[in-house]
Amino acid sequence: MFGRGARRSDNSKYYEVLGVSKNSSQDELKKAYRKAAIKNHPDKGGDPEKFKELAHAYEVLSDPEKREIYDQYGEDALKEGMGGGGGGHNPFDIFESFFGGGFGGAFGGGGSFRGSRKKQGENAVHTLRVSLEDLYSGTTKKLSLSRNILCPKCKGKGSKSGASGTCFGCQGTGMRVTTRQIAPGMIQQMQHVCPECRGSGEVISERDRCTQCKGNKITQEKKVLEVNVEKGMQHGQKIVFDGEADEAPDTITGDIIFVLQQKDHSKFRRKSDDLYVEHNLSLTEALCGFQFVLTHLDGRQLLIKSSPGEVIKPDQYKAINDEGMPHYGRPFIKGRLYIHFNVEFPESGFLSPEKCRILETILPPGKRASDMELNDCEETTLHDVNMEEEMRRKEQRRRKEAYDMDDDDEPNVHRMACNQQ
Ligand SMILES: [Zn+2]
Ligand SMILES: [Zn+2]
Repeated sequence: MFGRGARRSDNSKYYEVLGVSKNSSQDELKKAYRKAAIKNHPDKGGDPEKFKELAHAYEVLSDPEKREIYDQYGEDALKEGMGGGGGGHNPFDIFESFFGGGFGGAFGGGGSFRGSRKKQGENAVHTLRVSLEDLYSGTTKKLSLSRNILCPKCKGKGSKSGASGTCFGCQGTGMRVTTRQIAPGMIQQMQHVCPECRGSGEVISERDRCTQCKGNKITQEKKVLEVNVEKGMQHGQKIVFDGEADEAPDTITGDIIFVLQQKDHSKFRRKSDDLYVEHNLSLTEALCGFQFVLTHLDGRQLLIKSSPGEVIKPDQYKAINDEGMPHYGRPFIKGRLYIHFNVEFPESGFLSPEKCRILETILPPGKRASDMELNDCEETTLHDVNMEEEMRRKEQRRRKEAYDMDDDDEPNVHRMACNQQ
């Protein structure tokens, strides 16, 4: 495939073929090959030479020993040193081994070329509930899942010999057409999945059936996935395991996707990288100072206190820098921790008139109406109200009135006209 001329031995071509950098990981290589091989597969109209090149590049780079030789001495060294390395294996074998034999005989040399296309398998999406503590400190969750894999014994072919015959019932199409007469001269045609091969178009003889999967091509596998929840990940963020979903013949295996779902926290609320905490102060604390201990999400005890002479007003916020959530990807950067203060006032009747006198000597003086003002005034009564309730009732009334006046175009103009008469 490669000339043995006098040119300098090349040690970057394979990386270029796969479109990856020289220091790419095995995982990146795998992904790159997977993507390119599917795209360039001759059955999908791809260039067979390019397909061969991809397989060869992947074969070398996915083998750490061969990769090292290639990196140091280039492809010529491989041809000389590794027996048969230069010639490479059948690219279809490499492709097949990579996809777990999923393409079956349909693409291989001896295949029956039914022209089947690999379909995209479905992704398996799971919800993963995590606490705010998990997202703050990061954690690893081990999850045991069972999934379908191609039978390892028959490599997903279902038969011992690897061969499968064309289904007689449907001539390999997987579908069957039946006709029935619904009236004289009228025939109805119905198409349905072939019951003999269950739509696969192929049959495996009783004797040739794989003993492990009984010809089903797939078996169950129990697998423990380690899900790495990283510091600062967000609610709704996805963690993807490429190609780990159920395997099936002639199918590109889908991904397992975990969608993080953050559980509510009893104390902290989160908004992107910031944290919010509610704190109640007594009136005395609000006026004279406070201090309290807050246990953070990683268990650290934070001492939070006011400055001397500081007065906290109801509904006031204060912030502590760098005590919010770590930023995803750059966990040493943290958001802010906001504290929202609620001031608890004593109930009515708490202060006797005598105590009020004492307080009045300490607190800023109030404003009282002068005797002259009082002479001209009318007495009023203050009622307790629920303002939200009040506003809701008013809004309802306003809507009803707007509806009632709908057919009376401009009521204000109309009234003014009347007044002028
Ligand atoms: Zn099997
Ligand atoms: Zn059939």
